Order: sequence, then C-alpha cells, then structure tokens
Amino acid sequence: MKACMPVRNLILILGDQLDHQSAALAAADKARDIVLMIEAREESTHVWSSKVRTVLFLSAMRHHSAWLHTQGFVVHYRALDGHGDASLATGLGAEITASKPAAIICVEPGDLRVTALLQDTCSAHNIPLDLRADSHFLCGCAEFSQWAGANKSLRMEFFYRVMRRKHNILMQGEEPEGAQWNFDADNRKAFGKAGPQEVPTPAQFPPDAITREVITIVEKHFDDHPGQLAHFNWPVTREAALVALDDFIENRFAGFGEHQDAMWTHLPFGWHSLLSTSLNLKLLHPMEVIEKAQAAYRADKVDLLSAEGFIRQILGWREFMRGVYFLDMPAMKTANHFGHTNPLPKWYWTADTKMHCMRQCISQTLDHGYAHHIQRLMITGMFGVTAEIIPQDMADWYLAVYVDAIEWVELPNVAGMALFANGGRFTSKPYIASGAYVKRMSNYCKGCVYAPEDKTSASACPMTTLYWNFVDKHEKVLAKNPRTALMVKNLTRMDVAERDAMRNRARAMLNNLDAL
Ligand code: FAD
Ligand code: SF4
Repeated sequence: MKACMPVRNLILILGDQLDHQSAALAAADKARDIVLMIEAREESTHVWSSKVRTVLFLSAMRHHSAWLHTQGFVVHYRALDGHGDASLATGLGAEITASKPAAIICVEPGDLRVTALLQDTCSAHNIPLDLRADSHFLCGCAEFSQWAGANKSLRMEFFYRVMRRKHNILMQGEEPEGAQWNFDADNRKAFGKAGPQEVPTPAQFPPDAITREVITIVEKHFDDHPGQLAHFNWPVTREAALVALDDFIENRFAGFGEHQDAMWTHLPFGWHSLLSTSLNLKLLHPMEVIEKAQAAYRADKVDLLSAEGFIRQILGWREFMRGVYFLDMPAMKTANHFGHTNPLPKWYWTADTKMHCMRQCISQTLDHGYAHHIQRLMITGMFGVTAEIIPQDMADWYLAVYVDAIEWVELPNVAGMALFANGGRFTSKPYIASGAYVKRMSNYCKGCVYAPEDKTSASACPMTTLYWNFVDKHEKVLAKNPRTALMVKNLTRMDVAERDAMRNRARAMLNNLDAL
C-alpha cells in the first residue's frame, strides 16, 4: 500500500478467527485495506486466564499474522510487548485515529462482551462497523433460531438429526447409518481393572521460535496467572492442526468410541482427539474434520461406534451449543436456577485439594489447559452443582483455564449442561452422581483419602455426601422427573439417623469447601 493512499477498510481479526477463508477477508483489497490484529491485556485478565491459554492464543495469532504477510496483506500487529494495549477498545481506537479508515470489518465475535466493545468503540469514533456472519460454522444463528422456534426446551438429538440429513453425513439414503441415530449408550465403558493399556501418545508440537518468544512474554506479563508452560504442546498453525487431525484419525480414532467417558490417573488425554483448540481458533473447518472421520469409517478403519460418537460431538453438540449461546444470551450469563451462593473453592486454581479425582482433573488442567468432556462434566462440573457454587464463578473458572474456552462454547456447556443453571433448557436432568460413579469410571478413588461409599463419617467422600444432600434438598422436584425418580427412591432407603448424619456432614463440608 502506498503511504499516501487512503485506507478503505480496517479488517480486524480476533484471536479466535484465524481461518484462512475468513469472511472478513472476502473481497479484501490488498492495496487499500489494512488487516489489524491486537494483543490486548484485558483479554487475559477479564477472567484470570491461564498462561497456557494465553500462550496458545498469542502464538497462533503471531503465526497467522506471518501467514497474512505471505499472502500480501498489509498487517498492523499490535503486540503486547510493543503497543501494550490495555484493551481491544484502546487498540482499535488508536488504529482508527492513526489510519483513518472508511469502515471497520470484523467477523461476528464468539463473545458478546467483545461485540459490545467493538460497537461502542466504532460509534465513539463515528465509523461504520461491518460485522460479518461467521462462515466457519455449519448452522447459522438465524437458521438455529428458526429450528428452535418458540420451544421452551431444546434437545440436541433432534437438531443433530436435522444436521445429519442436511449435510448427508453417516446416512444411507433417508436412514441413519446402522439404522440408529445415536450410539451414546455404547460410548460409556470404563477401562476396567486392567486400566487403559497402550494409548498412543498424541502428536508432538514442540514450541518453535515464535512460541518460545510468546512464552517469555507471558511469563513476564502474567507471572501470577494460573497454570504452567513446561508442557505446552498445542498446534498453533493450520499445518500443525492438519497434522494433529491426521494423527488422531490414524492412531487414536479407533479407540475413541467405547472409552469416551473413561478416566484414569495420569492419563490426561485418553483416546480423545485434542482438536477443540484447532477448531475453535478456526485453524480447522468442522466439515473437513467430519469428512475425514466419515472417510475413515467408510474405509473400515474405525467402527460406527467411534465414527458416530465423534461426529455427533462436532456436527451436533458444537453447533448446538453455539446456536443456544446466541439464542439465550444475555440471560444465560446470569442464570442461577438453584440460587447457589457458595464462592469457588480456592483449590480450583491450584489443585491443592484432598479429593483425588479433583486433584487429577485440575492438575492436568493447569498443566495442559485440558480435561476431557467427562472430567469437565462429571468431576469439576458436578461438584459445582452439589457444592452449591455460584454458576458465574464456575463459568469464569472454565473460561480462564481451558485452552479451547471461548464464551460461545464455554458458557452453554458450563451453565446449561454441567450446572443446570438455566433450569434444564436443553438437559432433561441435572448431571449428578455419587462417588460410586467416579469409582466405576476411573481409578481415582484408589489414591484418595476419602471413601467413595461413605457419606457420614470424617472420611466421607464429598462427592457422595454432597450428592445425597442435593437429592435430599431437591427431593420433591427430582421425584417428579422419571429420569431422577430412582435417586429419590434410593434416598428413601436411608433411615432417619443416617439421613441426619449425612445432612450434618454435608453442612460441615458446605461451610468450609476450601478445606476439602
Ligand atoms: P473430543 O472428545 O475428541 O471431541 C471432538 C470434538 O467435539 C471436540 O474437539 C469439540 O470441538 C467437539 N465437542 C465435544 N463435546 C462438545 C460440547 N459439549 N460442546 C461443544 N463442542 C464439543 N468445549 C470447548 O471447545 N470449549 C470449552 O470452553 C468447553 N467447555 C466445557 C465446559 C464443560 C463444563 C463441559 C462439560 C464441556 C466443555 N466443552 C468445551 C466441551 C468438551 O468438553 C470439549 O470440547 C472437549 O473436551 C475438547 O477435547 P477434545 O478436542 O479432545 O474433544
Ligand atoms: Fe473423588 Fe470421592 Fe473417589 Fe475421592 S473417594 S476420588 S473424592 S469420588
């Protein structure tokens, strides 16, 4: 771009909008448009973002900026250690003043806080903002809203069937492959006493020079933030994300199906794909992942159990969660169906708890920024429900510590799925279970000071005691729901003295969650 030429559009690319086919770049004029990328401090501090999450975003952004340069774009990159912008608003405002563009272009953000911030900044500078629909997703917001209609309760399963038909995935004509839409019931096997056996190590992505530089910067600017960087191993470019995808399809996909829910000490990843970061940063398109998965099934490399189970997560849950986020915001952000008031225990940030299941899941979260679905749902999430923790505290924690956390996908999973904070908008019951579930699905209880069957003594398992206490408190409502009536029936088998002892033990725990 010639120095004297007026700038037509300032194209803002956010940290999770790194797709080479971004709608913001469509019809860009490399001679008259400037691409803007901003490393804003506030994006790591509005929740107490873990170091590993911040490094992932900043390193992927810097790699994307390098790619944009190779494509001939003029890129204004406002680095944390250069411009040091406090917020996206200050960075954008400074660029508007300096470059005087005719308009701002951006793909619609996946966090409505950021949308409001862009709108406010542009109106303060009296400049038009062109927010473009995100072409990364397979179901647009308007399309989802039309599907949802005025229904009070939404079910992912029905949305998923529509998406299978629409995209002709795992279909035999009009019928689902294998004459069954969903093999969820077969996806829940534990590893058994022998343990997980040989699980192939995921592909390795040792930090390159750019990532190493970002690690140094993050250690300097956010040294008191949670997590640690010694194990950083996430793909930060599209090329690396494609390697991760191939690695999963070739080496791990076949084992994904039946052990999706299983957990084991010192096994942070199991057979899971580890593709959520690449998908959410938009280094991978969901349809290319789904098509590879379907091709592996058609080539007899994996069974239908694995193929359907995996595709359901991406074509079903991922698209569904995004649709629900935009449909139910802003109410979802403050939802607190049970009126819970306990603050988040401090050990969520340190893993310094006696509960071995929690210690395992939180430690790996701090080490890698990762826990798989059942660890998030049935360990850290379930405890949030039965320990009566404020949903917004829980949501802030999840948003801060997971590498794949962006509000459009984090909030519905936390508030809607794990915590039932929106009163069951898309789940038919709260996800709660006692320590017996943890014992069945993992070996965590073996290394624990608490006893999973015990709900009353000093060594009572908090998962168990708080589970029974929750069933006791919500007995009437749970008894009316066919999916939870059995919990209440089992509760009534407890005699009065045992029930009182359980309540007393629960009260002591709830009064001092930090000590568990
Ligand atoms: P796999 O188990 O291999 O699944 C394949 C892909 O399916 C994932 O990469 C992901 O893109 C998609 N997927 C699976 N489950 C879901 C789901 N429930 N919602 C949306 N997409 C899904 N996922 C995020 O991407 N970001 C989050 O911030 C996030 N927060 C969560 C919080 C809670 C309380 C719970 C219960 C789940 C959350 N999930 C979140 C969903 C899920 O746990 C992660 O997508 C998954 O663990 C990522 O690991 P993976 O790539 O190995 O997934
Ligand atoms: Fe978790 Fe209870 Fe098992 Fe300990 S005994 S690991 S707290 S479920």
